Amino acid sequence: MRGQVVKLDRGYPLVRTDEGRLVRCEHATALVKGERVRAVIGDFVEVDAPEGHDKGIIERICPRSREFVRKDPTERALPQVLAANFDRVLVAQPLSDMNFKRLERELVLAYETGADVAVVLTKADLAESDEAVRSVRARVHDLAGPAAETVVVSAEDPASVEAVRALVPPGTTAVFIGKSGVGKSSLVNLLVGDEVQETAEVREGDGKGRHTTVSREMIRVPNGGYVVDMPGVRGLGLWDADAGIEAAFADVEELAESCRFRDCRHVDEPGCAVRAAVESGELSEARFASYQALRQETVQVKERREEARRMRGEKASTSGKPRGGKARKKKR
Ligand code: GDP
Ligand code: ZN
Repeated sequence: MRGQVVKLDRGYPLVRTDEGRLVRCEHATALVKGERVRAVIGDFVEVDAPEGHDKGIIERICPRSREFVRKDPTERALPQVLAANFDRVLVAQPLSDMNFKRLERELVLAYETGADVAVVLTKADLAESDEAVRSVRARVHDLAGPAAETVVVSAEDPASVEAVRALVPPGTTAVFIGKSGVGKSSLVNLLVGDEVQETAEVREGDGKGRHTTVSREMIRVPNGGYVVDMPGVRGLGLWDADAGIEAAFADVEELAESCRFRDCRHVDEPGCAVRAAVESGELSEARFASYQALRQETVQVKERREEARRMRGEKASTSGKPRGGKARKKKR
């Protein structure tokens, strides 16, 4: 039978079958042997439920329409898929404690999936003034581009979460990313109208500490679709990110089209339009530095992959990615 992985924790994946039954499952040996394939949250799977066996067996993982991939933080050159088959990525950051560098990275990873992207600015009640809210919002809009919606929420103002609910319409799934502590769980609880996710207070209060919360779950949003909270995701190393960078840095890419050389690295080439824009102040130094650093990171990860492949004696091949990043409107 067919089903979808709706919860992943330290134990066995929980699959909801098409008939609506929840079944704990393990992977068929043939599926995981040799390769490191594992079902992730959101995966559609074929499950076998042998008689006299207390668990279902995942026989096949269906091709993914979309995946959220980062570089495996524990391995040198392996991708790690964190979620599959979603429609939108919601990037959460606290409005009064923004980390714009991290936001740029989060946007690259989000755009790379090809899904819709939105930014959720949390804890608006802690902002100094309405003016501060407006100015952060404008800066985020500049970074994220016109394709990404930006919403402002506060746990103190339940009505504010309706803007988030609208980003998760029925029949769709949204994945939340953001550093621990930005208020994702609180937001999920507000959306659901119940304490379905343990917030920081609960996690710390139970004496187990926050590091125990690693479960990923698809949570049903009333009058909406599903959200996936991804706690415990710290590092966001880039894997394939060319399309994501192109979309998340459309402003820089657009400038680069006027560079004299198509493969301009914007370092010391003559006729570099990007560096000219930095010098004239049209493009900020910080923005340019982020762009160069993220591009450099993808070059490095590609080199390491090639190196690892050579060591395994394999030929260069394209990765089995489901798609390329979604082209974002270049005009801003
Ligand atoms: P998560 O780690 O992203 O899931 O973040 P939590 O939802 O656990 O929230 C982290 C902390 O921020 C907790 O102490 C929350 O009570 C607090 N918090 C969450 N949302 C808000 C908000 O809108 N305003 C304020 N002032 N605090 C919030
Ligand atoms: Zn250039």
